[in-house]
Amino acid sequence: MVEYNDLIFEISRQGRVGSNLPESDVGHVDLQDKLPKHLIRDVPAELPEVSELQIARHYTALSNKNHGIDNGFYPLGSCTMKYNPKINETVARLEGFSRIHPYQPVETVQGALEVLYELQEELAVITGMDAVTLQPSAGAQGEWTGLMMVKAYHAQKGETRTKVLVPDSAHGTNPASATVAGFETITIPSNKNGLVDLEELKKHVGSDTAALMLTNPNTLGLFETEILEIAEVVHEAGGLLYYDGANANAILGKTTPGSMGFDIVHLNLHKTFTGPHGGGGPGAGPVGVKAKLIPYLPVPRVEKENDQYVLNYNEPLSIGRVKGYYGNFGILLRAYTYIRTMGNVGLREVSESAVLHANYLRKRLEPYFDAPYSQVCKHEFVLSGSRQKKLGVRTLDMAKRLLDFGYHPPTIYFPLNVEECLMIEPTETESKETLDAFADVMIQIAKEVEENPSVVLEAPHTTVIGRLDEVKAARQPILRYVKEEAAEREKEFARS
Ligand SMILES: *Cc1c(COP(=O)(O)O)cnc(C)c1O
Repeated sequence: MVEYNDLIFEISRQGRVGSNLPESDVGHVDLQDKLPKHLIRDVPAELPEVSELQIARHYTALSNKNHGIDNGFYPLGSCTMKYNPKINETVARLEGFSRIHPYQPVETVQGALEVLYELQEELAVITGMDAVTLQPSAGAQGEWTGLMMVKAYHAQKGETRTKVLVPDSAHGTNPASATVAGFETITIPSNKNGLVDLEELKKHVGSDTAALMLTNPNTLGLFETEILEIAEVVHEAGGLLYYDGANANAILGKTTPGSMGFDIVHLNLHKTFTGPHGGGGPGAGPVGVKAKLIPYLPVPRVEKENDQYVLNYNEPLSIGRVKGYYGNFGILLRAYTYIRTMGNVGLREVSESAVLHANYLRKRLEPYFDAPYSQVCKHEFVLSGSRQKKLGVRTLDMAKRLLDFGYHPPTIYFPLNVEECLMIEPTETESKETLDAFADVMIQIAKEVEENPSVVLEAPHTTVIGRLDEVKAARQPILRYVKEEAAEREKEFARS
């Protein structure tokens, strides 16, 4: 059904009010002599004039157009769009947490510091590391923090190592972080099974290797079975191993980066540990390290002295502060609540279910799509739309068609080493009915590609806005409301 607000964008009418402000009791203030001339408006701001009911409907209509985990399936690979338990929100809103200030004396925020300290300890166990910093505010910032520690570690030993090795299936943030941290990225090609090619790796490892960045299971959802040999090769050359743990859904309670030989790891609490994400923020990308890297961790470090929790700024080899205060406290609290709610056994079951769900969906879909790496996967898997491409329909078209059925599409065209890639991560929180319904729709779309491709090529059909000009949307985004332009756009987007 098309709603009133979909048809009419401009709902402002002169003189209509939605608020009822009391008379000002400060009298008239003449701004002319209080503000610099160039800051004073000649004409009043053109603000929309609407009633309270209209504004309520406007924002409700906007929110209904949004797709989120609370209103539908969201199998976005490498992003772990799992359910965000509501108890996390309740805890994050407790006054003792939400109404404190980061500059309060530490004696008055012992509870908050206790949560941070315990979370550090728990994440150290989960990753098999010796210490953790909670400061970085995203996965990418965690990577950069880790690499700055790599740099400091080698420098302290009097070594200049300039190269960071990254497999071709890696998340784009890995080479980006290496570059920002001042390293040169060397890409290691995968072998035909989608795993790190050990022989290729050996060719590139040397006295200039600062670190290898890897994720295991890798971005194809496959477990690197030669991980111990890989770690040995890098360590023998004096390099460090960095684990991209953004998506830890396959290893929780099963294994740890520490036991695989890694020295540094970041986690995305806004993925694996149920922090809400999407829409840009806020995230949390804690970093764990083995003992030899502890001196380089960011300050302040949250520590326990006798029965008191303290902030320790006094670490001479520290890379310094990487974020204001102590991290995104609200997201850290949610992750702590999640870990405490699940417990050891619960976290292990998360991995088992996530892997089971991914393999179930993979098995249902493999007959209908090309499967370049058809083997047991971990928490996610990739398919290729190359069979459909031969019929003139691309993966992008199929992704758009999914919107007609109320699904957020999987990640597409990533990783880069798979043609027409679809990367699917169902997560453990979905029911079998949801997985089956999604599989049925994917199979239907595969059949449409053969029998009636135009329905896919012209999708989406049921959304408020049809297919966007993606280049224009990226190059000339309209981020500000301008009344006249809005009227124009209304015409442009109007559907017949
Ligand atoms: C999401 C993700 C990142 C980056 O995390 P951000 O919080 O978006 O910076 C890095 N690596 C992998 C594998 C990811 O999935």
